[in-house]
Amino acid sequence: MSSYSEQRQQSSTKIITVIKCMTCDYTVEREMKDGDFVLKVEGKCPKDNGTLYIAGIYAETTQPQSQKK
Ligand SMILES: [Zn+2]
Repeated sequence: MSSYSEQRQQSSTKIITVIKCMTCDYTVEREMKDGDFVLKVEGKCPKDNGTLYIAGIYAETTQPQSQKK
């Protein structure tokens, strides 16, 4: 059907959610879940109990078995 799917390397795109604390520099990244959106409150910071929020969402392409030079 689609003739442009020639790149059959098992590269997969992950959507990464970046979570930050409002009151300190704590940052964590994890795979995006359903319902994630920027500025959504995501719980409490383990460092200072501040509010964690989603600071950004981006796509990350991973290519197993290939090394960049
Ligand atoms: Zn914090």
